[in-house]
Amino acid sequence: MKHENLTWNAATREWFCKRCGRTSDNASVFEAQAELEQFECRLPSRETPSAAPGTETVRLIKKPFKMTPRVERSGCRFLVVETDHGPEIKLELLDDAPSLTSLSIGFEMLRGATLAQARTIVDAMNERIVGVIVTPK
Ligand SMILES: [Zn+2]
Repeated sequence: MKHENLTWNAATREWFCKRCGRTSDNASVFEAQAELEQFECRLPSRETPSAAPGTETVRLIKKPFKMTPRVERSGCRFLVVETDHGPEIKLELLDDAPSLTSLSIGFEMLRGATLAQARTIVDAMNERIVGVIVTPK
């Protein structure tokens, strides 16, 4: 088996190989493994020509495997939340950004910040910030 460490990525609903980064959107890990079996498990950047001079080598399709960056966009707004430690700013997503659905994102304020200050900031943010852009690094 070439890709032994397939891991399910719930955000993208794909299996991916931790070693080489190849992905398969088959729901079953067995089918995903079968699909990826046709590829060698190695990073394209590590591919070094190792054939001795004069040896005929089969040139594999030299398209370096690259994951197309998945860009997710969601409209958002900021809310002031009162907590025991003072006000916090919460990010509310208005659309579905799969990578973020399982996360709650908030912003902690400097100690001593008042509710009024938090509201002023949130108003300014909501006035100018329209959305969140999520891209894998
Ligand atoms: Zn692999």
